[in-house]
Amino acid sequence: MTEQRKFASVEAVAAELAPSYPVYCLHGARLRATVRDFLTLFPGRVLYAVKCNPHPQVLRALVAAGIADFDTASLPEIAQVAETFPEARAYFMHPVKNRAAIKMAHLAYRVRHYVVDHAAELDKVLSEIPDRNLCVVVRLKTAPDAATVYDLSSKFGCDLDEAVHLLRAASNAGCDTGVAFHVGSQCGSPEAYRAGLMRVGEVLRASGVAPTVIDVGGGFPAPYTNASVPPLAAYMQVIRDAYAALTLPATVTLACEPGRALVAEAVSLVAQVLLRKGDRLYLNDGIYGSLAEMYQSRLRLPVRLIRKAPRAAAAIAEFRLFGPTCDSLDVIPGTFTLPGDVDEGDWLEVGMVGAYSNALASRFNGFYPETMVEIGD
Ligand SMILES: *Cc1c(COP(=O)(O)O)cnc(C)c1O
Repeated sequence: MTEQRKFASVEAVAAELAPSYPVYCLHGARLRATVRDFLTLFPGRVLYAVKCNPHPQVLRALVAAGIADFDTASLPEIAQVAETFPEARAYFMHPVKNRAAIKMAHLAYRVRHYVVDHAAELDKVLSEIPDRNLCVVVRLKTAPDAATVYDLSSKFGCDLDEAVHLLRAASNAGCDTGVAFHVGSQCGSPEAYRAGLMRVGEVLRASGVAPTVIDVGGGFPAPYTNASVPPLAAYMQVIRDAYAALTLPATVTLACEPGRALVAEAVSLVAQVLLRKGDRLYLNDGIYGSLAEMYQSRLRLPVRLIRKAPRAAAAIAEFRLFGPTCDSLDVIPGTFTLPGDVDEGDWLEVGMVGAYSNALASRFNGFYPETMVEIGD
């Protein structure tokens, strides 16, 4: 286990490390509070979607806070979970899997749950796992929701007829079965989960198959600065009501797979200003690094100044932020309000970068953010 450096505050990170490289700050208390909310409000099992932030310190903090189940999408993710946390359960929730990965997940890591959304993928799973000690989870397509930033049903999920066929085929082959959907990431509408669960009900009635797991996926939003999203409790109330309406036996497990909402607020980023040109600030991190998601989405992150040396407060001004690579696309969309005297050597703390940040970062031009420290007790 790598040693974790702990600091009293983000200011202390800047003062003590004076980092010329980007540093992720893990806010443990924030993470624990969010996990507690999920575990107390969700009436079932909470699987953390590893792809969202697979940093070992983040995974350890999640497990310490009570997460024991993981939504994984590849053999490396399964291996990371299984080898770091022998007590944890990994679920293979990608609808398109490598044959060897299916076999290894089953034989080496004892994974029981496999998602499918097509008959050919079910055939792969059944032929690679002949002992049938598994649960086939059928992924349904959901209707696109205007309040969702990413629509995942444009790529994955099957319609009702195919789902009925897959459930019957898996059940006839001797497998446990389940039904899952994913409303899309940063979903602004709790009702999208009701629509998904009603669809699950239709599929179950049409198939006559008794499932062992119903999985409402991820998609729960984080409160980015330009996003006004309903509270988590509103989502959980809708899920509770819509699930109750399915009147399934108590032996059925309800599951969810949050990524973003569990970790987005738990990490901030300390980036340094390398050069100021008027209202343009050139930073040591950008859209090929931690801020990749800013480029393709409308999400906006909170940014504040941490001065290299104490100075009298200056009037605020609007700045544009540029990343460190040579690519002219490496600009953070939008303008950012900061004290007007920000200059080379100062740091910016970018908040809410726990989700899809280090997970998406590339090594383009030799820049790669990987240092993480912990803030607080
Ligand atoms: C990405 C993904 C998640 C996590 O989604 P968030 O929007 O980050 O909550 C959960 N389940 C599946 C199948 C995914 O692909």
